Amino acid sequence: MTHATTRPFLLAVPIAAEHSGSAHATVQVIPGPTPIPDAEATAARDITDETALSLPRLTRRSALLGAAALFAPLAPQLSFARARPPAPPPGTILLNGNENPYGPSPAARQAILASVDEAPRYAYSSIDTLAAKIAMREGIPVAQVVIGSGSGELLRMAALLASTTMPGSELVASKPTYEELPEFAGRMGLKVLWTAPDSAHRHDLNAMRATITDRTSLVYVCNPNNPTGTAVTRDALEAFVRSVPPRTTVIVDEAYIDFVEGFGMGTVAGLVQKVPNLIVLRTFSKIHGLAGLRIGYAISSEAIAKRFADLSLVWPNTTGVDAALASYGDFEFLKSTREAIVADRTRVHAALDRIGRPHTEAQGNFVFFDTGIPVQQFRDRMLAKGIKVGRPFEGYDTWSRVTIGRREEVDQFLAALLEALKA
Ligand code: PLP
Repeated sequence: MTHATTRPFLLAVPIAAEHSGSAHATVQVIPGPTPIPDAEATAARDITDETALSLPRLTRRSALLGAAALFAPLAPQLSFARARPPAPPPGTILLNGNENPYGPSPAARQAILASVDEAPRYAYSSIDTLAAKIAMREGIPVAQVVIGSGSGELLRMAALLASTTMPGSELVASKPTYEELPEFAGRMGLKVLWTAPDSAHRHDLNAMRATITDRTSLVYVCNPNNPTGTAVTRDALEAFVRSVPPRTTVIVDEAYIDFVEGFGMGTVAGLVQKVPNLIVLRTFSKIHGLAGLRIGYAISSEAIAKRFADLSLVWPNTTGVDAALASYGDFEFLKSTREAIVADRTRVHAALDRIGRPHTEAQGNFVFFDTGIPVQQFRDRMLAKGIKVGRPFEGYDTWSRVTIGRREEVDQFLAALLEALKA
């Protein structure tokens, strides 16, 4: 595994769990309907082409430009840590962070306690063991797996890689989406090209494909998407990924993939053996319920994995790695958690249908629906009832994102929802 031997010791930048509105310069693009080329036809193209991000060495020009970008002054609003919202009163039901309150699994709890003795040690061998387990389950060589301190770190590594390899290049993403990569990429000097979602609030893959230019280094596909909760089908995503030119790397963020349900939904991880410009990201923060312990992983070609590992800033913590290892094999917990969350998601959708509130077809551990009132007003009313729900998202002024908590929390949410919308 390339990871353990190459990680430098640098200070970690704290990552906000929730991000407020995007502050960097963006370009809104509303592209025409260019169809995605047929998967069969594109499968035959030369997939041995190097993707720009897997090139072994920086050119002198890109290194200079990258260095210049590093020392350029940050936009004033980005040069300090974003103020965090005040902590909610103790006892508040937290349905705002897409966390999984059923975690950690029983096996992970034991591993966490047992890891106390490991605390004086660096997690060398356990990182390798975790990467090997992931590789075995995915049916890929271990050199194609990189463990990160949360998938957030890996998203930032992708921006770092793009900004040093192709300074000033573009990132294509759909708005609204999880903003960690677009925000960080913007700070690294990448130009973010946004596309609008389709009428079902899903990524519009045709529009995203049409937005890619010869300056596009990264495309971000969050599937299922945060905050809309929607997902595109595996086949549609495969056709899209295969249609993207080799110089552009597609990042498919599968943080919520374990909660998908329904026809055609699924992972594209199996494609990394065939498509050299694909990175699939997963996290232990969602179904595994280990958000606080900061472990995620990337699956990609060996060339990209090597470059990725070289850019890592934070050494994953021993307790997190031990907990992830235990949770990865705790199938009973994973199954029961998925069942509980999917059942309650269905229950919330049914309640919204009964009261006539539009919602998306949520595929993650959260729902996204139109409250019919300004979302901040809805949030205030819910907070007054002891429940914190998600923040506003641009373009969805009356829509709320609500995490599926424990069954009794969902009961309380449903009762409070009816009152909040009546008030
Ligand atoms: N990707 C998506 C889509 C998310 O919603 C989140 C967190 O909410 C992350 C990645 C980051 O997860 P972590 O850094 O905890 O692995």
